[in-house]
Amino acid sequence: MRGVVMEAPGRVVVTDRPDPVIEEPTDAIIRVTAACVCGSDLWPYRGGWEVDHAPMGHEYIGEVVELGSEVTTLNVGDHVVGSFIASCNHCEICLAGYQSRCVRAVGMGGIGTQAEYARIPLAAGTLVPITDGAPEADLVPSLLTASDVLGTGWFAAEAAQVGPGKTVAVVGDGAVGLLGVLATSELGAERIVVFSRHERRQELARVFGATDVIATRGDEGVAELTDLLGGLGAHSVIEAVGNQVSMEQAIAACRPGGHVGFVGLNHGVALDGKQLFGSAVHLHGGPAPVRRMLPDLIERIQSGAIDPGLVFDHVVPLEQAAEGYRAMDERTAIKSLLTID
Ligand SMILES: [Zn+2]
Ligand SMILES: [Zn+2]
Repeated sequence: MRGVVMEAPGRVVVTDRPDPVIEEPTDAIIRVTAACVCGSDLWPYRGGWEVDHAPMGHEYIGEVVELGSEVTTLNVGDHVVGSFIASCNHCEICLAGYQSRCVRAVGMGGIGTQAEYARIPLAAGTLVPITDGAPEADLVPSLLTASDVLGTGWFAAEAAQVGPGKTVAVVGDGAVGLLGVLATSELGAERIVVFSRHERRQELARVFGATDVIATRGDEGVAELTDLLGGLGAHSVIEAVGNQVSMEQAIAACRPGGHVGFVGLNHGVALDGKQLFGSAVHLHGGPAPVRRMLPDLIERIQSGAIDPGLVFDHVVPLEQAAEGYRAMDERTAIKSLLTID
């Protein structure tokens, strides 16, 4: 089969990879019908960590083509969405709602879903069938977002305890931050302020429900936010970047007693204990338990209540995946969708 491999930082190729096979009786094989490039794929692309001929991709939607002997809740031919982390969905951690930290968790990034086929471990726990068979073509981008970015934005909003009457600040105008805006709006927040300096991203944030945009960042951005909110920080802050500046900004933007939901893949962040102590904020985050939210998100998409697929502003065939990476790296695209015939 054809699949994306990152040979080295900045070097993405589409090449022949071995067809996946059932390795465990709990596996499934899916034909991937759409995949995409994640902001987190840009970390190794930019040399942020080691990469050597790694299969890439962890977001997917597809059709089941083969099942292991122990998978009894799915059928060949089912169209499915699954989380970017495979999970059993019945251990104590899963039952508590933290499927992304399942005791049996398998990261899909190690398997690589930017490919024609993928092995899905723990298939019965991981995959959620889309009702009514193959999805309408115009719903595919939105359903694909449910695999990671939408679920991650939604978890950030939940972790930040957004809701009616709340003021919310969103740090990060990538796909996760923008879908954090969408989630926040759906969950009824009163005022949603997004930090963004990029016109097209600001526009999409407003489409998703942002009420205000602040184009400055760091201390200056926080000062502008507190001015806007009448002298206090936000009740809820979504952190959707994961670097030192964004984490510090998110905590500083939050009022004492408020909640910060941090979902940007942390990289090299070191928090000052004394400042954190003084902030008196709640911090909750990590890899989003997307599996828990999938049924609800799929229903909201299929009913037309939300259209998160708008974050895909660049669509290329799998064979041109390198172009999809390049556009996101140069920030000419918010998020690249890879079509697969
Ligand atoms: Zn991702
Ligand atoms: Zn589990």
